[in-house]
Amino acid sequence: MSNHDQLHRYLFEKFAVRGELVNLSHTYQQILANHNYPQPVQALLGELLVATSLLTATLKFAGNITVQIQGDGPLKLAVINGNNQQEMRGVARVVDEIAADSTLRQMVGNGIMVITITPEKGERYQGIVSLEGETLAESLEGYFRQSEQLPTRLFIRTGIHEGKPAASGMLLQVLPAELRHDDEFDHLVQLTATIKNEELFSLPANDVLYRLYHQEEVTLYQPQPVIFRCSCSRQRCGETLMTLPAEEVQTMLAQDGHIDMHCDYCGQHYLFDALDISALYAHGNPSAH
Ligand SMILES: [Zn+2]
Repeated sequence: MSNHDQLHRYLFEKFAVRGELVNLSHTYQQILANHNYPQPVQALLGELLVATSLLTATLKFAGNITVQIQGDGPLKLAVINGNNQQEMRGVARVVDEIAADSTLRQMVGNGIMVITITPEKGERYQGIVSLEGETLAESLEGYFRQSEQLPTRLFIRTGIHEGKPAASGMLLQVLPAELRHDDEFDHLVQLTATIKNEELFSLPANDVLYRLYHQEEVTLYQPQPVIFRCSCSRQRCGETLMTLPAEEVQTMLAQDGHIDMHCDYCGQHYLFDALDISALYAHGNPSAH
């Protein structure tokens, strides 16, 4: 039985602190598949994946979160998108050589992290933080300070487990509208920080919690599976084509006899030939002519 690719929520009732634990392998490997990313980019995507999973688990409504890193370095963009169903996808855009020992700063240059929360109903929210911390987790904690003001700590680990890329993480957050016990929160943070990569990659959630907090009372809830899923579709690609000027579509069509819409996230190709395109104009978009 695998304990991978599951998100666990837990609660310290006495301290009014909530926790999350996520352990990702298949989802992470599917995001890396079909891309030849340099090692530090793979690691960063793993960190972003863990962060996005932990963040979407804090949502109190249906929606999705995109965590994006943009910079002027050889890594132009790294992005993970996930929703409250824990369906994840992501991609990175590398424009120049990245050495195997590159730091976050060396890869990204002057970078920012953009966190976009899109509820299914309601207003989109966007938070931007500069990538000043040493690690992604530090920058994310800065984001929580800016936006929600709930004391939040993240613990993100990536590496290799049983020969395959693994990414795991934990989150601790003080519950809103509760009396703050800073000392107690710090105590839980210190305990959590002692988790070893190998323990987080391999142990069932129960064992991790016991290993870290055996002197505390902690409730562990039913896990939620995390999966790789891309929301691209033939219909969406068609809609995108219809937003382009008609001459541009005709030029693209003339080049190869078909238009190949390629999804960066999952590698899927959607081919549109002349008949498909005329059908799109006929049915797809009433404003087109
Ligand atoms: Zn796709």
